[in-house]
Amino acid sequence: MMDKRDIALQMSCPVTGVPKFTELSPLDRNGERIMLAANGTFLEVNRPWIRVVVQVGPSLATTVPFGELKPAVEFKAGKLPRALLQEFVEWAQNDHHVEIGAVITWDEKTGQYALLRAKSTTATADHLDYELPTLPEGVHIVVDCHSHSHGHAFFSATDDADDQHALKYAFVVGHCNTNNPSIASRLCARGVFKNLTWKI
Ligand SMILES: [Zn+2]
Repeated sequence: MMDKRDIALQMSCPVTGVPKFTELSPLDRNGERIMLAANGTFLEVNRPWIRVVVQVGPSLATTVPFGELKPAVEFKAGKLPRALLQEFVEWAQNDHHVEIGAVITWDEKTGQYALLRAKSTTATADHLDYELPTLPEGVHIVVDCHSHSHGHAFFSATDDADDQHALKYAFVVGHCNTNNPSIASRLCARGVFKNLTWKI
């Protein structure tokens, strides 16, 4: 008999073979699954504000009875207000001597976005630990923002480790002591990172 911890673990991320002749319904619950397709191994993650399908591995090295799958990003929340990203850039410029953090949240009941400053536990010009605010039920982190003080905007190995498990957008601002800050952005899908070219 299978250990009940394994049953719970496997239920949290089931494995599905992609049918060849039947259209596969998207995940309709909040959760994730691994999908084996003829053209690779994919991860599907569904949240109230987004659904993504990303490739996480090559196709299996044998003949498989599966259909093909395409990567997909279905953004289900309303348009992300650029003004909130601009506001974060202004915060980072005002506090350019330290790294700062913030999140842009989306409320599934009201459809409203909000920019919330994270409380820094330690912040210097090249290091930041911040506590994310506790969010009420139905409020989701859509963008995780941080600044790199006077350094350039990029995703460091620390950022990669911090972003490993989340489904979110990540946004970094650098050169915060200038009028021409640098920007980097990406979609983080539980260990898969897709660089984006957001402009401010
Ligand atoms: Zn960083």
